[in-house]
Amino acid sequence: MPVLFVGHGSPMNAIEDNVWSRQFEGLGERVPLPKAILSVSAHWYGPGTYLTGDVKPRTIHDFGGFPRELYEVQYPAAGAPDLARRVVSLIGERRAALSQEWGLDHGTWSVLRRLRPQADVPVVQLSIDSRLSPADHLEMAKALRPLREEGVLILGSGNITHNLRHAFTSAHRGDLTTPAWAARFDADVAQALTQHETVPLAGALQSEIGAASHPSPDHYLPLLYAAGASDEKDAVAFPITGFDMGSLSMRSVAFE
Ligand code: ZN
Repeated sequence: MPVLFVGHGSPMNAIEDNVWSRQFEGLGERVPLPKAILSVSAHWYGPGTYLTGDVKPRTIHDFGGFPRELYEVQYPAAGAPDLARRVVSLIGERRAALSQEWGLDHGTWSVLRRLRPQADVPVVQLSIDSRLSPADHLEMAKALRPLREEGVLILGSGNITHNLRHAFTSAHRGDLTTPAWAARFDADVAQALTQHETVPLAGALQSEIGAASHPSPDHYLPLLYAAGASDEKDAVAFPITGFDMGSLSMRSVAFE
């Protein structure tokens, strides 16, 4: 199975017909039918590594101030407790556990609604432990590699640049020029991915442009799960590129 990272952007991409949602649909056609999907979403970020263990994970509407239509979206994919337990065994029982506290958040369903509108592939979400370093996340992702041979699609969902304060201020001013720090960070990350270099990926947030691109690391870390689950034999492609709201990178990455 390939590994995907998708820049999810606005939750509205789940219901709007726009340049991003159409490209998400194109991504769905690129990927062979998986047995199950393991999604690492920016929006399940906190202390601990957990997996959704429910047979029927609920659709979580984890945002505020959007139209009612968005709150009515359901993504009725089945869960896959067997896959969740398999991931725990790969990562280690001392580091990961099943949880009934979460479901599928919009980082997962706003993308999967486009990639797999039928919702006929079971989905498990993996949380991102906020206490771990980027290098730790890469290490954990490496442990997930065998899943690819088992027909599991590993999906990271975040954004390569994600400074919402900048994005909203720019939108308010009506100036959607991409700032130099965002263009540079996005390009640097793309280059590291193309060359399978994980050291610069692990250190990227420490630079000035890294700090400007990610006031908090949550939307960056899913990329490390995709990169860590890839290997040097994978071809690296960027099926979606560009910026939304000026500074929000919508770059998607396929390791295949
Ligand atoms: Zn998000």
